[in-house]
Amino acid sequence: MISGKARELHFSSLVFDTHSDSLGRIVDDKEDFGTNTLKGHMDLPRMKSGNQNAQFFAAFVDSERFTVQEAVKRANQYFDAFDNLCIKYPEILVQAKTASDVVRIRKEDKIAGILCVEGGHAIVDSLDVLNNFYSRGVRYMTLTHNMSNNWADGIQDEASNDAIIGWKKSKLIHENNGWLKYETRHNGLTEFGRKVIKEMNKIGMIIDISHVARKTFWDVIETTNKPVMASHSSAYSITQNPRNIDDDQLKAVSKNNGVVCVNYEVTFVSNQCNQETRKIDIWKQDEIKKLESTHKIGSNTHQEYLKKINIEHNKLSAPLLKQPIYTEIIDHIDHMVNIAGIDHVGLGSDFDGSRTPTGMEDCSKIPLITQELLNRNYTDQDIRKILGLNVLRVLEDVTGL
Ligand SMILES: [Zn+2]
Repeated sequence: MISGKARELHFSSLVFDTHSDSLGRIVDDKEDFGTNTLKGHMDLPRMKSGNQNAQFFAAFVDSERFTVQEAVKRANQYFDAFDNLCIKYPEILVQAKTASDVVRIRKEDKIAGILCVEGGHAIVDSLDVLNNFYSRGVRYMTLTHNMSNNWADGIQDEASNDAIIGWKKSKLIHENNGWLKYETRHNGLTEFGRKVIKEMNKIGMIIDISHVARKTFWDVIETTNKPVMASHSSAYSITQNPRNIDDDQLKAVSKNNGVVCVNYEVTFVSNQCNQETRKIDIWKQDEIKKLESTHKIGSNTHQEYLKKINIEHNKLSAPLLKQPIYTEIIDHIDHMVNIAGIDHVGLGSDFDGSRTPTGMEDCSKIPLITQELLNRNYTDQDIRKILGLNVLRVLEDVTGL
């Protein structure tokens, strides 16, 4: 499957992946990431075998699981887990904080790991916390997760307002019971949101615009004086999922000298899969609504029927999720290169946070991307840019040497 030429090119390149949710497996499931876990998409041995040699590890503070009071503690649990991994496997994984760290660690034939935070609500509206995150080594922050926070709108809120493809409205979660509140819509960034952007510019932290609402994106572009990154987003022109980046945004990131890194999630890369699974999701939502109108929530019969709905939902969606193949990832790369240019596209797998296409079962399969890019007549230098050099440039532009 992989030619000698592709192997040589791939294994001599910096392969910089900009989004992995794997730290959650270490924090919650106590997995030993230094061994072949045979689980999920990644571990250090499989990163080695796929030559995925520079990696942003996300601290994703799930706002539906953790309260405001718990958010900072949770973020620090991820940072500690990452530090401990570096301490336990110093011959394999080393923390990087700058572009020159990445280059040095790569020369030592080790994996360069960089921390990042997914979901700006984790700073609990405090620039001090943002600075604390920076001092732990966090070098990008995704401004929102799908839902809005107190200072920026997320894509899920906006998508439900504009009814792009009918994402459900975000829940109203009130602060008085300790939960983050999402009912506020800001029409993009608030004044404080703009302060966050300026502070990130100042301290040298990359602004990640994956997950944000369109209006938030345009406010960021207007406010930032440094290149931005979409750490895990695919092309909206190909797959009409609101999480993807449209052509106007691609052009704006290009002008900003930033980078958009393709997400491998099947409902982001395959339009057919996205549309068909969406229909099944809507069916499920309707069934649950019907059930709630006839049975008391939490009652035995409610629980029993809910279980049946979930089983049926899984049965219907499983074959659809298997249909997409990994070459569809490269269709997105092609489109993004066409619109944004060869200097503004990278890899943002979303490993351990996504459902990947057939052929891309885990990170050991990454050389297939290099092979497919060669099949499509990309030059060696262009492939090296997509694999990692573009992201390295943005990291250097934002964090300094
Ligand atoms: Zn994400």
